[in-house]
Amino acid sequence: MMRLLQVSRLEVFYGKVQALQPTSLHIDSGQIVTVIGPNGAGKSTMLNAIAGALPASGTQSGDVIFGEQNLTGSAIEKRVASGMSLVPEKRELFATMKVEDNLLLGSYRRYQAGEKDYADQMHVVYDLFPRLKERRQQQAGTLSGGERQMLALGRALMAKPRLLMLDEPSLGLAPLIVKEIFHIIHRLKQTGVAILLVEQNARAALQVADYGYVLETGSIALEGVASDLAQDQRVVETYLGLVKK
Ligand code: ATP
Repeated sequence: MMRLLQVSRLEVFYGKVQALQPTSLHIDSGQIVTVIGPNGAGKSTMLNAIAGALPASGTQSGDVIFGEQNLTGSAIEKRVASGMSLVPEKRELFATMKVEDNLLLGSYRRYQAGEKDYADQMHVVYDLFPRLKERRQQQAGTLSGGERQMLALGRALMAKPRLLMLDEPSLGLAPLIVKEIFHIIHRLKQTGVAILLVEQNARAALQVADYGYVLETGSIALEGVASDLAQDQRVVETYLGLVKK
């Protein structure tokens, strides 16, 4: 398998406070890799640093190698252009715009780059999310929480990314919708896109992922094949909960 992303000794400070200790992580093309861990462990910080989307108060060091490119220190636009796409925890949709227009905005960079087929991904997105197709004329702000998450995912896919980065896609959603979202993540894998999935829902994340990292207070405490991690005593006790009979 081809190495798609290699992150080495990535560190993040907010002012003098270190939010991420030197962290290394990798993703092969077509893989789903998950980062699980409790609130405040640094999961979003890590994801945003890789995507080039840290807030102004954040500074990062270390290496981010994506495909053949060294993206260390490069701006978010360059990272997007090279095939990274981030769905942030706050979905950042355009509430007063229609579903379809939100999707088209996701392909804006491809449009600007003169890619004639920039809107073709719409079929792929509508195929994955029939609910979005039904509601394509509806204002994004009037969608349900689950539909909004689908729209945020769909918009990211419009950019035809090689790496999709998802920050807690299950956050605030009802269990049935969470199930649906994870089912879609599983289907996405079949389209060939690699996925970096940050989640507090460790059970669902480890079920869908190939490989996993456990992040605790800014550093990686454990890593391994997702199905092995799901059996790991510490992971079971801390993140999956004991099932008592
Ligand atoms: P959650 O699941 O709650 O989103 P997380 O694992 O994603 O948690 P981060 O949001 O990355 O964790 O936060 C890691 C640490 O960095 C926390 O202690 C947080 O308070 C701090 N932090 C995050 N963003 C900033 C910021 N913009 N300025 C200062 N400190 C920050």
